[in-house]
Amino acid sequence: MFRTCTTQDAKNFDGKEVKVCGWVHDIRVLGRIAFIILRDRYGFAQLTLIKSIIGKENFKKYTKLTRESVICARGKVQLTEQAKLGFEILPEEINVLSVASAPLPLGVADKVQADMETRIENRFLDLRKPEVLAVFRVRSALLQGMRDTLIAHKFIEVHTPKIVATATEGGTELFPVKYFEKDAYLNQSPQLYKQILMGAGFDRVFEIAPAFRAEEHNTTRHLNEFISIDAELSFANDEDAMQILEEAIQNAIRYAVEREGDALELLGMKWEVPEIPFRRVTYDEALELLSGEVDMDWGEDFSTEALKVLGEKINDFYYITRWPLETKPFYVMPDGDKALAFDLMYRDKELSSGAQRNHNYESLVQNMRAKGLNPDNFEFYLNAFRYGMPPHAGWGLGLERLVMIITGVKNIRECVIFPRDRTRLVP
Ligand code: ATP
Ligand code: MG
Repeated sequence: MFRTCTTQDAKNFDGKEVKVCGWVHDIRVLGRIAFIILRDRYGFAQLTLIKSIIGKENFKKYTKLTRESVICARGKVQLTEQAKLGFEILPEEINVLSVASAPLPLGVADKVQADMETRIENRFLDLRKPEVLAVFRVRSALLQGMRDTLIAHKFIEVHTPKIVATATEGGTELFPVKYFEKDAYLNQSPQLYKQILMGAGFDRVFEIAPAFRAEEHNTTRHLNEFISIDAELSFANDEDAMQILEEAIQNAIRYAVEREGDALELLGMKWEVPEIPFRRVTYDEALELLSGEVDMDWGEDFSTEALKVLGEKINDFYYITRWPLETKPFYVMPDGDKALAFDLMYRDKELSSGAQRNHNYESLVQNMRAKGLNPDNFEFYLNAFRYGMPPHAGWGLGLERLVMIITGVKNIRECVIFPRDRTRLVP
């Protein structure tokens, strides 16, 4: 057995022998006594080395270990007020499992953060920092909260193709790939497939999978590959979809707070589980709120500036509902010159877009043409509307946007282990 416990559990073994494994975070030598701070995913342990006990040779060997080397220590646990962590381990034996080269390209114990490029270049080291790991602990809890909510509401988890022949919404944000002798693309969104599944009678589906967007711009809230949480439900309207979404967000935050509270604390974030329903603001009301401060015409999408002002006025989660039809994709359900569509916002950030969908074949074809799309390219999709399609609604949410909001990190790249942006393809 490599280890008998983690650094977190070690303090429960006062007076007993344990084996702990991890990385050498720091070493301090004070004459005949030395401290090795051992780090694992769960925290830290102080190994107190006493020269007279461990032997002169060993003392020299262990105190010369390079930072970030991997070791395993066997020794007695002792609860003590003197140690910062409230306990220490007095090793009798240390196994050196892997020696780290020096100097490190990125200091794990350093208080100051390296720049983003250096961090991503050396991500395996960067991720060893407890506050960097904390983002992914919170991410995992949020994801679980979302998934459990959808499962509890009888959604079936599905996976749809990521290599596709046509764009979901047309446009240029597509990565072409060679598919033997055919041209293909990486999918921007599972939208069309999850709608087909409504036609297939699945009733409620969700998918958590990568979405690819060849967006050329470099922003702190866009990635070229992100994880999209998509849900679609039958015999439902926009309001039904919003209710599922806000409950999922509420549970996601509950999971993060309850399961990863100390990770949130490391990140300096305090969250209360939000109350639902979230505020609903129509597009028209939002324009009203902005009037006098931001100049914008009816029918325009909100600019970054407009969202900033709106975010200052509504300092919370809220929905913007009933958008002008022209701002939304062809598949949304029209209601006059409006769409039964919504965006979920947190302050100035868009978290999710959703809508009741247009399930009428003729009007769908017409709207497609109006948006300059050729219905012939969407036959595989449109066929599902010709033989019995229930009314349905749904939404898509970018997981990294949620992680950004909840962890408070400023750059979306920090929410992905290996981000893909305009220039980065490695690691
Ligand atoms: P934005 O206006 O913020 O660029 P969008 O309206 O183009 O987003 P949608 O097509 O509505 O995006 O996608 C649904 C959700 O997927 C968004 O609300 C967002 O959370 C997420 N998302 C979209 N594009 C990206 C991206 N490039 N990187 C990260 N997340 C994204
Ligand atoms: Mg959107």
